[in-house]
Amino acid sequence: MSKLERILKRVYEAPLPEAADLERLLSLNEREDIEAIFSFADKVRREFCGDGIALRGIIEFSNFCQRECAYCGLNKGNRAIQRYRMSKNELLKAVKDLDCRNIKTVVLQSGEDSRLDASWLEDVILEIKSGFDMAITLSVGERSEHDYRTWKNAGADRYLLKIETSDEGLYSSLHPHMDFSRRLDCLRILKGLGYQTGSGNIIGLPGQTPESIARDIIFFKRGDFDMIGIGPFIPHQSSSLAGRQKGDPLLSLKTVALTRIVTRDTHIPATTALGSLERDYRMEGLKCGANVLMPNFTPRPFRDLYEIYPGKKCVDEPVGECDICTQGMAEALGRFIDHSRADSLKMRMRQVSGALPR
Ligand code: SAH
Repeated sequence: MSKLERILKRVYEAPLPEAADLERLLSLNEREDIEAIFSFADKVRREFCGDGIALRGIIEFSNFCQRECAYCGLNKGNRAIQRYRMSKNELLKAVKDLDCRNIKTVVLQSGEDSRLDASWLEDVILEIKSGFDMAITLSVGERSEHDYRTWKNAGADRYLLKIETSDEGLYSSLHPHMDFSRRLDCLRILKGLGYQTGSGNIIGLPGQTPESIARDIIFFKRGDFDMIGIGPFIPHQSSSLAGRQKGDPLLSLKTVALTRIVTRDTHIPATTALGSLERDYRMEGLKCGANVLMPNFTPRPFRDLYEIYPGKKCVDEPVGECDICTQGMAEALGRFIDHSRADSLKMRMRQVSGALPR
């Protein structure tokens, strides 16, 4: 067994991997080494998730935001974008589009809209649940325990709240007036309420070190999340990080691979951000650990206005094109589109052995 194989095995088998091991793996750039990491991750993906690619249709229903996240184009200081809130009818129509395409998960995402009324979203959830056989994922940021409970009781299944970075100092510098411990509390509350809970990070944030990414991966393992979204940083011209360097696609892919190896039975999307760099890296993501795609179902004209970063993949494509695109990716990989709800893998996989994947 080579030295690299020994480290990979150690990282895979450890109850909690060493940051130094992960950092070392993240720093490798030789083609052979990268292929070894990616192929190990692909085996772990096959063993724990199978060959199905799960689909999550995302509807970005409001771009109002009260936050000032340094990386995000929706930050409240950005006066250059036109703000919108979709009506309930517009939103339900988009859900219908997604249902017609046989997609069984809808992700309802928005900026952190202070005027998002909890009972409005509760009604939306109730209507979706009564009209469609569909899992609902919410991604609307930090809210009160009361709101999280209201939506869970109405039938919401899952919640996405990325930690963005587990490095508290970096977190504070990127999120004015936000509190790292509050974010952790929200994640704990969501898990406690029984949501299938997702977190994730951004790769290539100014000031982020490989050690900090290694610690993110350990954070994902400790958190025992059901899903983890990893995307490269893409600078937005109307944010405080305008003009900074983009996240490195290779580092993003290595993070996807190591997150798969370490966390095993999580849903990991080949994120839209990964598809929005100088070229589309989602196929590579699917080859090194990812098992989910997130086609965009936000209708026009809103779709163009939900600009968290510029050059977002699929902004120019008709909604129906997603079918062709996702099907094409699955076929090219010898895999298939999984049209089930694809709930958390943790329920059935919690008791796995520590053996290496075949
Ligand atoms: N308001 C919600 C949804 C935020 S947008 C929330 O707070 O959870 C969804 C994700 O987009 C964020 O979690 C962040 O990881 C990502 N994102 C925002 N701006 C980005 C950028 N410039 N580059 C890469 N990812 C970005």
